[in-house]
Amino acid sequence: MKERSFRTKAVHSGLAEQRNFKSKATPIYQTSVFSFSSLEELEGYFEGETPYLYTRNGNPNTDELAKAVAALEEAPDGVAASSGLGAILAGILTVAQNGDHVVAASDLYGGTYHLIKEELQAFGITASFVDFRDQQAIEAAIQPNTKLLYSETISNPFLRVENIEGLVEIGKKYNLAVMIDNTFATPYLLQPFTKGIDLVVHSATKYIGGHSDITAGVLVGSKELIEKSRSRVVNMGMNLSPFESWLAYRGLKTLAIRMERQAKNAQELADFLQKHNGVKKTYYPKYVSEQGNGAMVSIELTEEVNMSQFFSSLGWIKIVPSLAGVETTVSYPLGTSHRALTDEEKSAIGINERVVRISVGIEESADIIQQVEQAINDALTR
Ligand SMILES: *Cc1c(COP(=O)(O)O)cnc(C)c1O
Repeated sequence: MKERSFRTKAVHSGLAEQRNFKSKATPIYQTSVFSFSSLEELEGYFEGETPYLYTRNGNPNTDELAKAVAALEEAPDGVAASSGLGAILAGILTVAQNGDHVVAASDLYGGTYHLIKEELQAFGITASFVDFRDQQAIEAAIQPNTKLLYSETISNPFLRVENIEGLVEIGKKYNLAVMIDNTFATPYLLQPFTKGIDLVVHSATKYIGGHSDITAGVLVGSKELIEKSRSRVVNMGMNLSPFESWLAYRGLKTLAIRMERQAKNAQELADFLQKHNGVKKTYYPKYVSEQGNGAMVSIELTEEVNMSQFFSSLGWIKIVPSLAGVETTVSYPLGTSHRALTDEEKSAIGINERVVRISVGIEESADIIQQVEQAINDALTR
């Protein structure tokens, strides 16, 4: 046979068919599509004999991430999405359609609040936001067309811990799906599916990934619900890329060790801040789980603290409008995550210009405390 020309070799040379090398780490299947060597094999995909056809429909890296998170949540199945919000949208559209209504907690993550309040209108889904500390208020907001209760296990930025059992009870009583965002707690602290929550969602951008280098989401639940959610992800183009799936899965391996350390550091920082005279109020939850209370600490500084001086005095602690990386960072809810809220909405949940949210990292606890203390002291005007 004639030797192939340069142009053809440029496209076809390489390891070609010998691809099974038993690498320890999962390879990154950085491919948009999978190949078939016969029509029978192609038909086999549609018969369920081979799992992959086209990456938007499914990819080994995406599945590996989703299955791993599902395993940690003790849920039968999971699907990954291009962001936390993508996973939330896929989950909501799994249980609510045109004409339906959602009852959601009023202290949701800003992006989720916007999604539910504004974007769901395009799908003909309406929503009511209520204070989820008040069980009667939740029940009072339920309408004949309500299909879903939506909340977060630990809220942002005041770290209110949701009454999961209470929500499950209301869901049963009114035959509603209950969906919860477990981003702040992670399955290391809480596994809401095991308590009867139908859909559990994560912004894997946060603790699952853990290194602030990806945007990703994962949704877990029953086989039946996740099958429907997967259709939403596939058909609405919300799939996660193979490389980001790979990074998230890589991050997930150290979730337990990171959360253990970060929660311990957070507890120590919260204990310290509680006693500092520049701090009016410290928000750090109690009794979240036997594994700890999470790694987020929020504070309201006193009138004597010059806020811009505080933020400029943080040294190695960066101002970062996100959370959950291995580095300790601070964010300013008024200026970022809750910026889009009206003044009324802000004051209703207690956001003001003195609130600071700290995402505690894996560094040496004493160094974190020392740096935060120095920033407050530098900014104290008397
Ligand atoms: C960040 C975050 C989201 C949104 O996730 P993205 O990955 O940014 O889309 C949703 N819920 C919570 C609690 C978050 O912290």
